[in-house]
Amino acid sequence: MNETVRLTPTKRTGYSACPHDCPSTCALEVELLDARTIGRVRGSKDNDYTAGVVCAKVARYAERQHHAERLLHPLRRVGPKGSGQFAPISWDDALDIVAGQFLQAEQRHGSETVWPYFYAGTMGLVQRDGIIRLRHAKRYSGFHSTICVNPAYSGFAAGVGRIAGPDPREMAKSDLVVIWGTNPVNTQVNVMTHATRARKERGAKIVAVDIYMNGTMEQADLAVLVKPGTDAALACAVMHCLFRDGKADWDYLDRYTDAPHELEAHLKTRDPAWASAITGTPVETIEAFARLIGERKRAYFRLGYGFARSRNGAASMHAASCIPAVTGAWQYEGGGAFHNNADIFQLNKRTIEGLDRADPTNRMLDQSRIGAILTGEREALAGGPPVTAMIVQNTNPMSVAPDQNKVKQGFAREDLFVCVHEQFMTETAQVADIVLPATTFLEHDDIYRGGGHQYIILGPKLVEAPGECRSNHEVIGALAKRVGAEHPGFGMSPRELIDDMLRASNRGTLAELEANRWLDCQPPFRQSHYLDGFPWPDGKFRFKPDWKTVPFRSPCQSGPVEAMPPLPDYWRVVEEADAAHPFRLATSPARAFLNSTFNETPTSLANEKRPTLMIHPDDAAEQGIVDGDYVVLGNTRGEVRLHAKLFDGVRRGVLIAESIWPNTAYADGCGINSLTGADPVAPYGGAAFHDNKVWVRKV
Ligand code: SF4
Repeated sequence: MNETVRLTPTKRTGYSACPHDCPSTCALEVELLDARTIGRVRGSKDNDYTAGVVCAKVARYAERQHHAERLLHPLRRVGPKGSGQFAPISWDDALDIVAGQFLQAEQRHGSETVWPYFYAGTMGLVQRDGIIRLRHAKRYSGFHSTICVNPAYSGFAAGVGRIAGPDPREMAKSDLVVIWGTNPVNTQVNVMTHATRARKERGAKIVAVDIYMNGTMEQADLAVLVKPGTDAALACAVMHCLFRDGKADWDYLDRYTDAPHELEAHLKTRDPAWASAITGTPVETIEAFARLIGERKRAYFRLGYGFARSRNGAASMHAASCIPAVTGAWQYEGGGAFHNNADIFQLNKRTIEGLDRADPTNRMLDQSRIGAILTGEREALAGGPPVTAMIVQNTNPMSVAPDQNKVKQGFAREDLFVCVHEQFMTETAQVADIVLPATTFLEHDDIYRGGGHQYIILGPKLVEAPGECRSNHEVIGALAKRVGAEHPGFGMSPRELIDDMLRASNRGTLAELEANRWLDCQPPFRQSHYLDGFPWPDGKFRFKPDWKTVPFRSPCQSGPVEAMPPLPDYWRVVEEADAAHPFRLATSPARAFLNSTFNETPTSLANEKRPTLMIHPDDAAEQGIVDGDYVVLGNTRGEVRLHAKLFDGVRRGVLIAESIWPNTAYADGCGINSLTGADPVAPYGGAAFHDNKVWVRKV
């Protein structure tokens, strides 16, 4: 416990940040009822991005924190793999077994046979990324993180040159907020706070672009409904109209962009009629959208992840990011394009990640291709040994990874040893050999940085952990000792690691952060609006990106990079419907779950009800399906059974299955990712979760 707990006569309030995989990274106020118990969780009112608002699932975090099914003790498998038969074991014995298996595997196949696997179950930099230090110190296989941001980041950086844009709070000062391919009513609620403020205080219009009439689309002044994967066609037609109608800012284009005349000529044939045939959006809607953009210079494009989860996702993101460069919206307060602030923080994680021990020749394995990797596909193994030992933290690949049937096949291997460190008995924990109980964010110290905002926020330990739960940092340190991994970071406390990172990054100290609760890292206006040029050698926004040299944090290119469009365009690389698979399926996020997190809490389960397939009534009629029917969806990767819901808020031929339910919620235990593919998205890998051709029929 520390000074970030404030005592009042009636209750205590602890300060923290939401650790979940959501760009809002809300600043939290947590009611502390006693040393082990929390009450309500609220958004901090005095944080001007969170502005007192959090989503409902985190507001009732006590349900998750004090859930009767929290893992409390280490467990060892005593039945066949995947049988779910476990017996308690001491921490020392469990860690000795894991270390022994890792050392044995290393002796047999070399160090790269061990694959530490992790993701964003917590976004805390100490507890999430310490596993990378173990990997570097032992030269285990590297983790090419691909499952989420790669298509979106690379598409945005292709034009802008880095992952940063205008201050997210400027949305409230816009005349037009375009919320594209993200559903903040479900997933990052603060975007709506700032966008609706602009509407209330300035008469701003809100436009939403999405593939179904979700909560955000319903609140928008103009809802632009497109077919999945066709966003670049919409963007091209909008730019066509802007050039055609004299709404392009030629002073800005000449000064700040690389090839405006080539772009204008290229777009001559990409008119609204052309785009309408691809997107399914009426010509009048495209024209109305372009008109709003042309009339309102202070237009803020809030570009989300959703529309990039497609095989052409990077090209779509790039195309959408080009629009404010055509109108010169970047010049104005409340104008420009924003996707994420990843590049503003410049945090030096040398000690947290053990970067001084990094060896670039060490094998990297693609997170999204875990099925192909564990089933021994040569190309996926990058010419190295098979993976025979794993430790998994903060993720549940048996549920959330694409190509689920292959993932299951891989984890069923008798020669694969798996240790899972988790808060709940997830599907991945169920197939482990050793299961270790993990702390939640309220039970350990950590530090968080915003994605959708510009704050670094401290998240100190606020309550004692139940049972024998230990933090990721403790487990990685204890394992390091046993496998002979050496690095000063293993011997430091999380607080020391936070202080070390802040000092090395010129971001002050832990004591200062603790006193202020958060640190505002927003770059100055001129820099975040690129008024002195975009971060390319010539300072010009790229309409013509060189996809092979797009700046990205990891150098592992994959997918058909050579075929990427040289100028903004609709790239026909998606899994198009065909006679055998006449529908296109997207797996969009549900309001009460966050990937597979929260799908254990009673209120979230009650709110979401059951796995459901949204299908257009006319499509349903053609298939003889009525509302509530049990249906089966399928493609070459698998089959999934769920209930149909007739819904006219999609284009014909489009199916939506919101969220990732536990696999056990579906007949045969086949979750929705049985249908998604793991073939890499260009240019830096990724999973095309919203890009699946399927057939559907009544069961
Ligand atoms: S909106 Fe996102 S960041 Fe905020 S509390 Fe909910 S999940 Fe966490």
